[in-house]
Amino acid sequence: MASSPTVLMRLVASAYSIAQKAGTIVRRVIAEGDLGIVEKTCATDLQTKADRLAQMSICSSLARKFPKLTIIGEEDLPFEEVDQELIEDGQWEEILQQPCPSQYSAIKEEDLVVWVDPLDGTKEYTEGLLDNVTVLIGIAYEGKAIAGVINQPYYNYQAGPDAVLGRTIWGVLGLGAFGFQLKEVPAGKHIITTTRSHNNKLVTDCVTAMNPDDVLRVGGAGNKIIQLIEGKASAYVFASPGCKKWDTCAPEVILHAVGGKLTDIHGNALQYNKEVKHMNSAGVLATLRNYDYYASRVPESVKNALVP
Ligand code: AMP
Ligand code: MG
Ligand code: MG
Repeated sequence: MASSPTVLMRLVASAYSIAQKAGTIVRRVIAEGDLGIVEKTCATDLQTKADRLAQMSICSSLARKFPKLTIIGEEDLPFEEVDQELIEDGQWEEILQQPCPSQYSAIKEEDLVVWVDPLDGTKEYTEGLLDNVTVLIGIAYEGKAIAGVINQPYYNYQAGPDAVLGRTIWGVLGLGAFGFQLKEVPAGKHIITTTRSHNNKLVTDCVTAMNPDDVLRVGGAGNKIIQLIEGKASAYVFASPGCKKWDTCAPEVILHAVGGKLTDIHGNALQYNKEVKHMNSAGVLATLRNYDYYASRVPESVKNALVP
């Protein structure tokens, strides 16, 4: 007789449906035409109505089903009753059919920390670069990112009217990552993906030191990890503070589940326990393959400028 799904697999199955719902909210706000843009710390650090509504939807939907979880969302929102229309109660059946890796089978709800970026790539969202946008739900246990869901609301938006809009990628360490076709950059090519909205001298110095064949400047941490797993870029290099734990948690899992590696610029693993500081102060370095090539080329001057 099949045993009932574990807490982790039920959470991932719910997070899948909840991320999909958030994706529909992200599309709806654009369709309605009023983005409600607010500057947070500066003109490149924005929040829109979609960030607010998606976070309310994700966090409330998770908390109703899993009241003992620790949930940390990017947006600082005043507490208010959430409209029932924003609540997602579904769970993705295909995930419930999958076996839970044995090392996670005894995890309890109160042991899990969920990092939520309701809309990653907000700056690009406000500029109409819609396929840069993702919804990120990352799940951590004992400080380690172990499961994650990425919804890309505008996947295929330039592929014509018959293409299915939006997709959801999910993964669990020890089980794998699903919802995309794994592809590698052609051997010997060094294609770097990095920020387009948060560039500075350190970022440029680090990218240049890697002697790239090409540099892609795109928005979103989720989007850049998708570029790595789909063979569009070979390394994600961001030698600067600015990126937070909710940006990296879910993407890191997807990358690690297919054999890639994400660290800070010194090569340290990122920690995701609930007490950890939110900022990834020592930047991000991520690759699907050949991590050592990129890590060995980070200049000492860049390392010295970025304190973990
Ligand atoms: P980017 O590669 O610029 O899209 O950044 C990836 C993620 O980190 C996004 O969620 C950004 O909002 C965030 N981020 C990076 N740098 C900064 C910064 N200087 N200020 C605010 N957010 C940042
Ligand atoms: Mg983000
Ligand atoms: Mg965000």
